[in-house]
Amino acid sequence: MNTVHLKLRHLTLFVKGQAPSVAVPSLASCGSASHRSVFQFFRTMATFINNNNNNDNINPNTRQLVGPKKAKQKEPLRRIKAREKRSKRGDVHGPSTVYLQVVGAGSRDNPASLYLFSEYNRYLFNCGEGTQRLMQEHKLKAAHLDNIFLTRLSWANVGGLSGMILTLKDMCVPECVLSGPPQLENFLTSIKSFSGPLEHIKLSVRPYTDETYADGTMTVYQVPIFAKLGGDGRSPSSGSGSPPRSPASRDSIQANISVENPGERQMLARDSSLVVSFICKLHPKKGNFLVTQARELGLPVGTAAIGPLIAALKDGKTITYEDKEIRPEQVCTPTDPGPVFIVVECPSENFVEAVCTNQQMRRYQTGGTEDPAVLVVHMTPESILKADQYQEWMERFPSTTEHLILNEETSTFHNIRSYKIQAQLNMIHSEIFPQLKTYNIREPQAALRVANVRAECLLKFQLRPVMEWQRDAIPSCNNEEFVKEASEIPNFLQEVGKCKKFCSTNPEEPPAECGKQYPEVVFLGTGSALPMKTRNVSGTLVNISPSQSVLLDCGEGTFGQLCRHYGDGVDDVLSNISTVFISHLHADHHTGLLKLLYQRARALTTLGKEFSPIYLFAPVEIMRWLSQYHHHCEEILSHINFIPNRIMCDDAEAPKQRTKSFIQAALRMNDLQKFQTCLVRHCRNAFACSFTHQSGWKLAFSGDTMPCDAFVHIGKNATLVIHEATLEDMLEEEALEKRHSTTSQAIGIGMKMDAEFIMLNHFSQRYAKIPLFSEDFSDKVGISFDHMRICLGDFKILPRLIPALKALFAEDIGEMEERSERRELRNLRESGWEVNAGQKTTAEVATGRAAKRDQEEAAHNVEPTKRIKTS
Ligand SMILES: [Zn+2]
Ligand SMILES: [Zn+2]
Repeated sequence: MNTVHLKLRHLTLFVKGQAPSVAVPSLASCGSASHRSVFQFFRTMATFINNNNNNDNINPNTRQLVGPKKAKQKEPLRRIKAREKRSKRGDVHGPSTVYLQVVGAGSRDNPASLYLFSEYNRYLFNCGEGTQRLMQEHKLKAAHLDNIFLTRLSWANVGGLSGMILTLKDMCVPECVLSGPPQLENFLTSIKSFSGPLEHIKLSVRPYTDETYADGTMTVYQVPIFAKLGGDGRSPSSGSGSPPRSPASRDSIQANISVENPGERQMLARDSSLVVSFICKLHPKKGNFLVTQARELGLPVGTAAIGPLIAALKDGKTITYEDKEIRPEQVCTPTDPGPVFIVVECPSENFVEAVCTNQQMRRYQTGGTEDPAVLVVHMTPESILKADQYQEWMERFPSTTEHLILNEETSTFHNIRSYKIQAQLNMIHSEIFPQLKTYNIREPQAALRVANVRAECLLKFQLRPVMEWQRDAIPSCNNEEFVKEASEIPNFLQEVGKCKKFCSTNPEEPPAECGKQYPEVVFLGTGSALPMKTRNVSGTLVNISPSQSVLLDCGEGTFGQLCRHYGDGVDDVLSNISTVFISHLHADHHTGLLKLLYQRARALTTLGKEFSPIYLFAPVEIMRWLSQYHHHCEEILSHINFIPNRIMCDDAEAPKQRTKSFIQAALRMNDLQKFQTCLVRHCRNAFACSFTHQSGWKLAFSGDTMPCDAFVHIGKNATLVIHEATLEDMLEEEALEKRHSTTSQAIGIGMKMDAEFIMLNHFSQRYAKIPLFSEDFSDKVGISFDHMRICLGDFKILPRLIPALKALFAEDIGEMEERSERRELRNLRESGWEVNAGQKTTAEVATGRAAKRDQEEAAHNVEPTKRIKTS
């Protein structure tokens, strides 16, 4: 029945401007999910990134080393060849399966993004922070992306783009085109300030002035929408993902000038008065040949003679066979002329009139010159949806047009795996692993006059073969099920029982009080290289007191993690953060900074607090990235009081007065006695830090590094050291080559420091759930998980959690150990051969490479961008 009515609906589209005679429910229940062909993202990663060990298939740490090896390009090349073949055939027929799928539904932690699938191409509309992580979790294949459409140059829309581009590059995707605002060109330049030259992937920008784009799937028309500014002279940047009011700057005035004289628009580096809408028209698809009907009419089905007859009939020609005239509609389904869908963002009231009066989109409304749009995707905040003018505009589409709405008022779970693992860890210790939350402070959803559908993660609108909503992929998030699943794991509940017994019989540190003690450390991201479903990339929040916080590193998605950790309390937490330390410029450590700053500004406004810039300790090179973004994309520099990490090293020159006042203020705001940094052994300009509170506790944070004496020195006698432990003990050579630490090396550094407790983090994503334990583990060592929350009083408990953790992840540990053993056997065989053949061992080769890299950097003053890649 579903299919029938949708087909009917489909046919009504051919009758221009005519409303259907029957009311069609907006939400069709899902019929057969026709296409589930997207195979796993990590399979793709395995194909492109991995070495030849089939079991070791998630190895994002190799990001630094992957080159454009021919064999690894197999899949993208295959797609290019298929495309060439189609164009050689003169094949202009549209694809048979196309659907649009929600990735991020527009919630505060997961900005709006859409994935479009056809069997020929894959596209992304907008790529905010966390998009890549969602695609990985939900198996949406990034390797096939060759077009990314951006509606606006706002961090909410482009925040995940740098990470995505680095991943596409690592997957050897040969080309990716970004369409939308012309400043995208400058955005790419800003990325290159930390990613290096981005060779081997052809990145190009198709600005909105290149109006039309067509490929095997569809034709896309870029429609610029220019804001009409209000009388207050403010830049119209306040959208669903932006702070309501950025600190005043010259740029809002610049934007004003540009609107008064549109001719000047091109000359401006930054222009927040532009959004781009996309009108997408699928190519027509010929009808299907109906074999049974053809046979009944006497056509020579099953013989060679049928070929030309089918071709003619499908082309819409009437044929004569054995003196019988046969019309195409007798034996073919009708040609599908190609549905149209529109993606529109209307971020603030300043754009409403321009959207509602736009002549290009007008064509696809009732009475327009084209077939009406079948779907309009609105990336529009609730306050704008309510506006009369906007509602009238929506009503001008016929009732056959579906409306999909993505904004903060959505109610959906995105990061299911994160909720799942936390629900299970929570069974072990409810304070150390608190339940995750959702951000619920929302405006009530507007009562719209047209039927509409609210976005949910993975909701699909299928355009072909049958037009229908499909809800079967929408993930469910059921805590009870997660708990039940864990309860059935052998030995888990027994170990949890033992752990709880220890906590209750240990009166010195009653766990119930842990959350009230300071400092409190919240691990927001504990994985390395790129964000994955269970571990996000680096970010650690240190709550010094109920009103003072320092953030250590800020990888992509750090704000999203904060949002899920604190729920409605996220604004309070953001407003407490006065200081951020960025260890080095690998993308997993700093690309979440802008979102954090914009959201912090928004939080301060919401709470009615006065805006003040953040104290940013970072390598000086970060300013190149931030300045480029500031000058060409969006205002950001007024959010920062910058303190170069170098100036905090023991041997540094005395800081200039301005920097000195920033340092003093940062120490004062956090009640710190001392803040130190040192250069570590990782990439150029990578730093660790340590700081001592007035009450006496000391915290040391390694950033990324190989074992490093300078860090031992600044972290001496730390109360807590947080040390990276990217790799397991058997992988010393790999650790050396990538300039990271193994578990035992990290523990060794903590012991050398005489640290009271050592927390390990920054695990390779191959240890998705839990790292491999080494023999050096003692009662002074703990392992971190995303959303783990500890305070100094927990040190006795943390090692007691390990048996329960081992039980919970026994299966994963077993697999990893097996893999490790196999690798070891292989290495033994290989090194034996190498030694026999008079060659260097693997370890020697690795040491040689690392030493060479040191020399290069020292002697040739190599541009940091050439070294700095992404972990
Ligand atoms: Zn890293
Ligand atoms: Zn790194």
